Amino acid sequence: MVKVYTIASGKGGTGKTTTSANLATCLAELGKETYVMDADMGMANLGIIMGLEDTPITLHEVLAGNAKVSEAVYEGPYGVKVVPSGISLKGFQNADPDRLRDVMRELIERCEFLIIDAPAGISRDGVIPLAIADEVILIVNPELSSMVDALKTKILTELVGGKVKGAILTRATMENTEVSKQKMEEVLGVKVIGIVPEDQNIRKSAAYKSPVVVKYPDSGAAKAYRRIAANLAGTPYVENQTKDSSRERFIERLARSVFKGKK
Ligand code: ADP
Ligand code: MG
Repeated sequence: MVKVYTIASGKGGTGKTTTSANLATCLAELGKETYVMDADMGMANLGIIMGLEDTPITLHEVLAGNAKVSEAVYEGPYGVKVVPSGISLKGFQNADPDRLRDVMRELIERCEFLIIDAPAGISRDGVIPLAIADEVILIVNPELSSMVDALKTKILTELVGGKVKGAILTRATMENTEVSKQKMEEVLGVKVIGIVPEDQNIRKSAAYKSPVVVKYPDSGAAKAYRRIAANLAGTPYVENQTKDSSRERFIERLARSVFKGKK
């Protein structure tokens, strides 16, 4: 059975692209036929994180009616298939977001998971990914403003007939986590399906044009993403042996404090 997840949040910079890239890579590593599509057509950066250098045909050309979907599919780490967006503004103007549904229909014939990296905001190209997914995953940072934002995105998703699977709390540290998991679940009315720590390895791996799960597989963020992906895939999560036990203890403490529910 195919599952289509849209990774969304109201604002930019919350970690949607990072999450899309890493979850899709993890699902492919688990042996699932996985596609990840960059529906953030104005700010295309999924392709860059996935290490794609030269992508002459992108979602822009497909949505403009100038290319076939199959021509815009590129291979990333572990065989994950990537449909990048173009970086030209002209291409963006010509792309018709209403065609996204057709692109999705074509892609899901080939895969088990389709991850859609959604744009921020409530423009037309932002709303369509919320409506066409089987389920939307909200990306939330540990601040009240981000939670309010996630709540708006949830309401918007339901307004357009979509469904929210849950929220992922990203960029969590011991200091900045104002909002407990329990409080978040109460306010958002959805489950928190994962917690990804603030981790400088994410930025470092992006500089190498590689998802953190590939470049720094033992990092806290990589482990968090593998755990979430295993959950989505319905396979047991097996923790790798780690050499860095102090970091490990920190992440464990962080997870425990968030899960217990600081009020
Ligand atoms: P969005 O797609 O929502 O705009 P990105 O995934 O591009 O957000 O992330 C925004 C910035 O935050 C990037 O510079 C990224 O490297 C950084 N980032 C994302 N997640 C984390 C994290 N867990 N720890 C540290 N930096 C992060
Ligand atoms: Mg993005």
